[in-house]
Formats: sequence, structure tokens, C-alpha cells
Amino acid sequence: MKNVRAKEICVDGLPVLVWWKRIKNVNLSVKAVDGQVRISVPWKTSESRVRQLLLSRLDWIEQQRQRMQKLPKPVVLHGDDGEVHQFFGVLYPLTVVYDGGRHHVEFNEQKGIVLYVRSGTARHRRLQVIDDWYRAELSARIPALIKRWEVLMNVQVNEWRIKKMKTRWGTCNISSRRVWLNLELARQPEICLEYIIVHEMVHLLERGHTRKFYDHLNRLLPRWREVDALLQPC
Ligand SMILES: [Zn+2]
Repeated sequence: MKNVRAKEICVDGLPVLVWWKRIKNVNLSVKAVDGQVRISVPWKTSESRVRQLLLSRLDWIEQQRQRMQKLPKPVVLHGDDGEVHQFFGVLYPLTVVYDGGRHHVEFNEQKGIVLYVRSGTARHRRLQVIDDWYRAELSARIPALIKRWEVLMNVQVNEWRIKKMKTRWGTCNISSRRVWLNLELARQPEICLEYIIVHEMVHLLERGHTRKFYDHLNRLLPRWREVDALLQPC
């Protein structure tokens, strides 16, 4: 049995990606990353009904798109002074200080991300220092989240790690009870970190993405779909 079906339709000149899923509620989102409009609808919803729904929400969609156009477009990052970097879903300016000291990052809400490196430090190395800082920030948050959900779910995680992954936000090795989390989660809204941890931990209760899996997830995090919609494509 297929669980998803997708199609791009055009409503009032607006391209919309429609996902038919085995879900109960309609979920409409505009992606911050490219302004793309997506709607997930229950499996049996007709295309004309989808069009009706979208037409009734056109004002809202337009508002979202205009709000997002004000955000800087994602660019290839080099770790250069003046770049904009994302930290837990918020965009901050990057300041690079060449001070000859220990490579590190200092962060605060007002100044944003301040990267201290020795002069002549190559781009890839500057980005690595930022990644190390992301890793440290994630590492500071993950143990308490895992502990909290171990108690709530009555499961045990033996080991966790942060990895750079191209296509997954997280993975769970069930037999070794090991959870790997994508370093990119440091750029996503902070609530996404907890959601991915819970998702991976639910795999300790149910291996596949079965109805039982989603029953657990719905019970533990009833609003997980809203959080899922915040995640940019990884
Ligand atoms: Zn999964």
C-alpha cells in the first residue's frame, strides 16, 4: 500500500506541490528556503477540493511569501565576514576577527556569531570552526533531551553522535540503541532537535514507519507535523 502521492498543480498562477498522505488533517506550508508552497492532504481528498482549499488560503500564502522574500536568500557559505549564518532557526551576521589566538566562536544575540581565527585561515577551516561550535551547541542540549524522553518513553539510548549527513535528519540503530543526529540541526529551529530525537527514539519502540510508529509519535508529540513543516529540506 502506497503511503504518499505527490503532484504539482497550479492555482491562480501559483505552483503548489500537493502531497496525498495517510493523515487526518490538512497541512499547508510555505518553505522559507525557496518560498515553495506545499500542502499535505488526507488520502481521499479530491484535487478539486485541494484547489478550493488553496483558493481560500491565497491571502495567507501571499503574506507568507512576502514575509519570506525579506529574508536573505540562502547562499554558499565561506565563513567570510558579513555573511549571514543560521543558528537554531534565526539568522545572525557573522563577524570574522583575525586575532592570532585560539580558533573559536563567541555568540550573543546582539553581536551575532563572532569567529576568531588566525589571519590567513582558509575558508574550509573557518567553516570547520563554525561547525565545531554548532557541534558543541548541539552537544550541550542533546543529553538532557534524551534523558527526558528516556524517562517519558521508558526506553534507553546507549549512545548518540552528531554527524554530517546529506539526506537524513537522524538515524537510529535499533540493536545497538544508538542515535545519530545531523549537524545541520544546529541551523534549524531549536524545537526541531527535540522532534528528531523523539522520532529516532520511537524507532526503539517500533522499527519501521508503520501506523504503530505514528501512533506513538502522535501520542508523544501531538504537534509533530507543525515542527516537521519547519524543517528545511536536508
Ligand atoms: Zn524514522
